[in-house]
Amino acid sequence: MPNFLNQLPLDGLKMISFCPICNEHHKLIEAKILEEKNNNHLIYLKCKKCNSSIVSLVAADGFGINSVGLVVDLTAEDVLKFKNSPVINSDDVILTHQFLEESKTKGNVKL
Ligand SMILES: [Zn+2]
Repeated sequence: MPNFLNQLPLDGLKMISFCPICNEHHKLIEAKILEEKNNNHLIYLKCKKCNSSIVSLVAADGFGINSVGLVVDLTAEDVLKFKNSPVINSDDVILTHQFLEESKTKGNVKL
């Protein structure tokens, strides 16, 4: 178990020690700390029972510990690769649509 997990209060451990998909508890949960900065920890959790992955941001301050988690289909390497990527906006979606329509017209893509 990473050193950081030993320093969390029991509630903090509960937040990150079970799988929200299959409810498997800590024995089959693999946790990796991807980034640690100013008491904020980006943690990647992988359930070995159902293969679900969760990315969680755990922030500790004087008031306690807050955690936000998302079920993802990313690997730990994907999270590190994309975490600083620019946000996709509506213009990007429109440009992609236009690109696909033009490619379809030219016969390069079949939709
Ligand atoms: Zn699971």
